[in-house]
Amino acid sequence: MGALAQRLKQTHCGSATCRQRADQEVLQGRWQQVVALATEHAVQQRLGPTSTPPAVVWLDPAPRQLTPVTDALREQLAQAWRQAWAEDRRRGYRGADTAQALPAAATALCAQCGGTCCVQGALHHAFVDAETLERWLLEHPGQTSEDAIAAYLAALPEQHLDGGCAFQTATGCHLPREQRADICNRYVCPALDELGDTLRATPDRAALVFTRQRRRFERAAVLHQGRATPLNHLPQPDELQPPGPPPQAR
Ligand code: SF4
Ligand code: SF4
Repeated sequence: MGALAQRLKQTHCGSATCRQRADQEVLQGRWQQVVALATEHAVQQRLGPTSTPPAVVWLDPAPRQLTPVTDALREQLAQAWRQAWAEDRRRGYRGADTAQALPAAATALCAQCGGTCCVQGALHHAFVDAETLERWLLEHPGQTSEDAIAAYLAALPEQHLDGGCAFQTATGCHLPREQRADICNRYVCPALDELGDTLRATPDRAALVFTRQRRRFERAAVLHQGRATPLNHLPQPDELQPPGPPPQAR
């Protein structure tokens, strides 16, 4: 920023880059104010221990709009699963089941999130491949791959979240856990990974969870011991004044 702008107490010199940087700094300050207000609320409402400040978790929004699982989508999935079986496609996703690998209180984050990662399931036919179908066949001796595919088709909900996996509903995955692909039961996003570490170290710690899109949050909640309490009356960052200098003493 130029000396003149500084002398005029401007936060930017007027160039697009400088204006953008100044705007980001103001926004960052406002997000910090939102977090401070949420922390205050959590303490007042006793939504966690008062001795340790809550952790802060940022999530990306998941799809929310329901849409029918159409015959065309069913046909598309059946064909993709048939092809995966014929070509013996296996994802071979490594790792441990999150139900065992993470503290139970941490996995409650997924319910609050709504399955942002499940959008990938829309691109990969719910991750059902030869490995998944084979597992079903081992559980159902004497059946064929077509029976396995028919069983997965029968498990589809009538409606799913638009833009998400065909099994993704407003209340979570419609497919029983034991029928899901390994990646579905093992994937841990960075936010969940970090919360898992936090709760392993301090199991009683609360977390403020913000589902954020650019300048706004779509939902906010306090997560404590696996229970999410919505924070309904928090202002959006742009409804706040940027934190200014402390008032001058008279
Ligand atoms: S793993 Fe992460 S992105 Fe996926 S549902 Fe859980 S919190 Fe959301
Ligand atoms: S099958 Fe279930 S867990 Fe897997 S991507 Fe689809 S909705 Fe998500």
